Amino acid sequence: MGIEEKLPSGFLLTSVEQAAGWVRKSSLFPATFGLACCAIEMMTTGAGRYDLARFGMEVFRGSPRQADLMIVAGRVSQKMAPVVRQVYDQMANPKWVISMGVCASSGGMFNNYAIVQGVDHVIPVDIYLPGCPPRPEMLMDAILKLHEQIRHEKLGAQRAKADDEAEQQALQA
Ligand code: SF4
Repeated sequence: MGIEEKLPSGFLLTSVEQAAGWVRKSSLFPATFGLACCAIEMMTTGAGRYDLARFGMEVFRGSPRQADLMIVAGRVSQKMAPVVRQVYDQMANPKWVISMGVCASSGGMFNNYAIVQGVDHVIPVDIYLPGCPPRPEMLMDAILKLHEQIRHEKLGAQRAKADDEAEQQALQA
């Protein structure tokens, strides 16, 4: 018999790590940020029909400083890449990134000099969502998968991610 069964009802046992994961995944604030046609589907996902509030995240923030989720919705042009990076840098830790659609993830059909061939050349990506464009149901599925990832993330993983990035940037400089 587990210890939970021996305790009177009304007690809940968990670890600090699991509690932090649960709190973090239950309260994501996406940055208001769209790059191309995929952004139309992202905006639709935020509308009443899909009711993102069920998952604790209906409010898209106007300032990256108040956001902890970046949804890269659309192709990333070479000109836009530094802006994407700047917005990402302005978001406070912990933060996560969904690459929405084939263009954001790999350049898609835009295999040319003007488009970054995958936003992971610019910022770290947690979830890659395929499709052209992905439907709102697909974006919601990606968000739920990210929730699972966040729920099981080790405390300190974000710090390690930030340190890795800083090291890479120092090497590139
Ligand atoms: Fe537009 Fe399709 Fe590219 Fe999304 S994946 S930005 S819908 S062309």
